[in-house]
Amino acid sequence: MTNTEKLLRELIALPSVNPAFLPAQNPRAGEQRVADFLAATAARAGLEVEFQTVSPGRSNLLARLSPRGKARQRVLLAPHLDTVNAADGQFTPSKRNGRLFGRGACDTKGSVAAMLTALCEMAEAGPRPAETEIIFAGLVDEEHGQAGSRALVASGLRAGLAIVGEPTRLELVTAHKGTLWLELETRGKSAHGSCPELGRNAVHAMARIVDLLHTSYAAQLRRRRHWLLGCGTVSVGAICGGSQANIVPDHCSILIDRRTLPGETDAGVRRELLGALRRKNLKASFAKQRVPTCLPLETDPKLPLVARFLQSIGQRKPVGVRYFCDASVLAHGGIPSVVFGPGDISQAHTADEWISVEALERGKRLLRRYLQLLS
Ligand SMILES: [Zn+2]
Repeated sequence: MTNTEKLLRELIALPSVNPAFLPAQNPRAGEQRVADFLAATAARAGLEVEFQTVSPGRSNLLARLSPRGKARQRVLLAPHLDTVNAADGQFTPSKRNGRLFGRGACDTKGSVAAMLTALCEMAEAGPRPAETEIIFAGLVDEEHGQAGSRALVASGLRAGLAIVGEPTRLELVTAHKGTLWLELETRGKSAHGSCPELGRNAVHAMARIVDLLHTSYAAQLRRRRHWLLGCGTVSVGAICGGSQANIVPDHCSILIDRRTLPGETDAGVRRELLGALRRKNLKASFAKQRVPTCLPLETDPKLPLVARFLQSIGQRKPVGVRYFCDASVLAHGGIPSVVFGPGDISQAHTADEWISVEALERGKRLLRRYLQLLS
């Protein structure tokens, strides 16, 4: 068994479910067990280990490989340590037909194992880069509020590149869409259901808006294409209005899921939506936003550290993905970020989460080869 597979098996057997998904004090909750175990592994290999407290009992783990000479640039390997919740059996790793099963196998303890093993091998066998400091940054809370990546950015740590570990099928990802959840409201005037002409029906007004969003506004979005991400999308996920059959409703609201492209802003999207309504003489207003926006990711593939990564793994063009991750937080905090790791996102969060052991090992080799190229 390779060191990477051995480490991944040990990580699966140490539950690190995000505390947001479990009752308080549940023994499977929290990343600290995994962080402590990785810290011991890193220290044995000769890496300098440091914890960065994010909240009580939850710390990012930083494991540093210093260069031979003076550090002139820094590269981060930044996978997350938490997982979603799982059934009992998923905390015991098992292998069938070249696949290792268990919670976190692909999202994203596989990346953790590949990244840390690559770095430990460099520490033990050398050579170290001449002037690049490499830091493994195991982050907490990616699956819920991204408190770990936010804390890392807030600490002032900067780098020329962060490689965020997520299952990308070992393809280098430089872009993903953003997510904006908006609540839109229509107001009317209530009246007795037997004389609807005396009222103004807010549900009817909203019905016209929902139709507009899913037809002409969606078509408007399809006319703008990003070279890696395709088009932005809009979807109405919930509607709420009225109380009973014989009252003309005076209020209706919908929840809108708008996936944004790089360059789009919250304010711009709101203006665009209201403009589309106004052109059809429809009136509505936005309620106070309750869920913070997830910003889109777009990192320039021509940045030298990114271009060299693409070249070293033999990939001609970067790819874009639909899902959001820590890369967006780090990038908007000033650290150019890409996403890379073994496994496929379709295997993540499932009842039989797995990773191909061959892809895991290949991921470790590709990372090691790239890091070895750094000056
Ligand atoms: Zn993940």
